[in-house]
Amino acid sequence: MNIKFGSPGPLVHTGLVDADVVVIGAGALGLSTALHCALAGRSVTVVERHTAGSQASGRAAGLFKSVQADELRTGLARRSIEKAASFADWAGVPLEVARPGSFLIARTAQHREYLRRELAQSVRWGADVREASPAQLAGGLSYYRAAGGEFALWCPEDAYIDEPASLVRAYLDACKLHGAAVLENEPAVGISLTDGRVAGVETAGRPIAARAVVDAAGGWVRQVAELAGARVPVAPVRHQLLITAPVPEVDPADPIARVVDAAVYLRPARGGLMLGGFEAGPLPLDPRQQPDSFSTDDVPLDLGVLREMAGQVGAEVPVAGSAPVAEHRGGLFTMSPDGRFVAGPVPEVPGLWVASGCNGSGFSSSPALGEALAAWITTGAAPPGMTALAPGRFGPLPDDELVTRGLWQYAHYYDPMAPERV
Ligand SMILES: Cc1cc2nc3c(=O)[nH]c(=O)nc-3n(C[C@H](O)[C@H](O)[C@H](O)COP(=O)(O)OP(=O)(O)OC[C@H]3O[C@@H](n4cnc5c(N)ncnc54)[C@H](O)[C@@H]3O)c2cc1C
Repeated sequence: MNIKFGSPGPLVHTGLVDADVVVIGAGALGLSTALHCALAGRSVTVVERHTAGSQASGRAAGLFKSVQADELRTGLARRSIEKAASFADWAGVPLEVARPGSFLIARTAQHREYLRRELAQSVRWGADVREASPAQLAGGLSYYRAAGGEFALWCPEDAYIDEPASLVRAYLDACKLHGAAVLENEPAVGISLTDGRVAGVETAGRPIAARAVVDAAGGWVRQVAELAGARVPVAPVRHQLLITAPVPEVDPADPIARVVDAAVYLRPARGGLMLGGFEAGPLPLDPRQQPDSFSTDDVPLDLGVLREMAGQVGAEVPVAGSAPVAEHRGGLFTMSPDGRFVAGPVPEVPGLWVASGCNGSGFSSSPALGEALAAWITTGAAPPGMTALAPGRFGPLPDDELVTRGLWQYAHYYDPMAPERV
């Protein structure tokens, strides 16, 4: 269902922050959608329960990955890299992006085959991905001691943003520049409907009239949708990473490495090494079953999970297990049953839109996903391929199946077509 501006019903302005579009949630997905709506000439207000970027987005590893499991996600990922790298040109504020490229590494026969398939399809979908020679891998990563039997891909387009707060800051500055209001410490507590259609948002402090409301509440996206009687098909799942103290073994200019059979990622960070990964037995965590005050600070972290991952790459990356841990952080992914974003109009509530189903890539895909969603909201026409991400695509799905499928997607983040993990 496409909701166009100019659709029936006058917008009754009741206060200074009334807007064409109200976005609930000032994480990467909400801020990008807001910014792109503002760039399209719409009045935009963002309401944020805490402070902008304080939840998942401010804790991300900051990795951008050009190799994705389907053509749509490959296109969004590559467009996002391009937009992040040229942020100042289109958004008007600077953003620093490290572009050292990445290695995708397989140490088992099965994952070798898997990467070969990814290579063929990614090239077909336009990504610049090449087979890396053993010498290139051995000489290309100071923190990785190649065993010699690996199969590796070189992905020169891949990038990272060192401190995730800098993308949030850039979105905020760009929102301000282009006239979008961001109201922090202002939780949405209601979504008002007129004749079944969205009419605005109630915050703890005031009503805000709007023709379109975007639910971009991250791990809280289901609670927020429920305010309008809608259901968003995602399961929040814990994700964590660590950063070691500065160590001489890591060259700050090193590329990113992803060891796909161990589902571990690594990159230089603050003079040390960042390690994160996807455990085979992930922890689902539904904020709807937590106290109202629940925030990302309350997500239970378990360093043991990361130590186990460090052990899985211990022979190749000894520093991951031996260096002191300087930071351990985590938060929630919103996993969908098919591993794809959940973005578009909510079928049962005209005027309500969703920007979610990050599946662990919401930070890096936010530039292109926000752009596409804003185009859909402001023109009423879905950009090519985007209907595949529509929130209604799963039909009624019981919660236990939603969680089971979301957990599977999480555990198979790097190998959604490969059945086994080491
Ligand atoms: C440790 C970690 C590492 C990660 N690494 C990467 C990575 O390398 N690359 C990548 O692409 N992604 C990564 N991710 C995933 C990425 O962080 C998420 O996909 C992305 O941040 C999701 O953005 P969001 O805007 O949906 O959610 P959030 O950033 O969580 O924003 C949602 C916002 O909604 C607000 N909110 C909730 N309820 C309400 C309400 N009622 N009213 C108003 N506001 C409300 C919240 O306070 C929050 O600020 C990582 C995540 C974690 C936890």
